[in-house]
Amino acid sequence: MPHAVKHCVINCSDWRLTEELAGFIKERGQADRIEIPGAALALTQPNSRDVVLGWIRTLHDLHHFTEVHLIDHTDCGAYRLTYPELQGASTETERERHAAHVQQAQQIISNDPTLKGIRIKGYLYNVGAHQLTEILSS
Ligand SMILES: [Zn+2]
Repeated sequence: MPHAVKHCVINCSDWRLTEELAGFIKERGQADRIEIPGAALALTQPNSRDVVLGWIRTLHDLHHFTEVHLIDHTDCGAYRLTYPELQGASTETERERHAAHVQQAQQIISNDPTLKGIRIKGYLYNVGAHQLTEILSS
């Protein structure tokens, strides 16, 4: 039976987000979920971008969501593997790196002809503080 959802949540696979995400989705209603290491990072890397975009397109074709929530988090292993200089970097440096990737991922989704008009919001979850902050809104 066909069904629709309002949201698609794209978040890092890190288990430390599980509880926060359960609350996030409960507040906003049913959502499609894509869990991938690094979240926005995976959309910005040439070796994974098209695969992730394909998953978003498939879910959008099936469930017609109108909003995408990109949820990165601090202390992300996927980011550290890609950017070793983030090890021991300041909170502000880490935040700037995530903000840049979330913005780039937003543009990649927005520029996809099949995903035009979808609203995209970006967040950074601070693992230590258990705090989710919006860092981008289109
Ligand atoms: Zn992560």
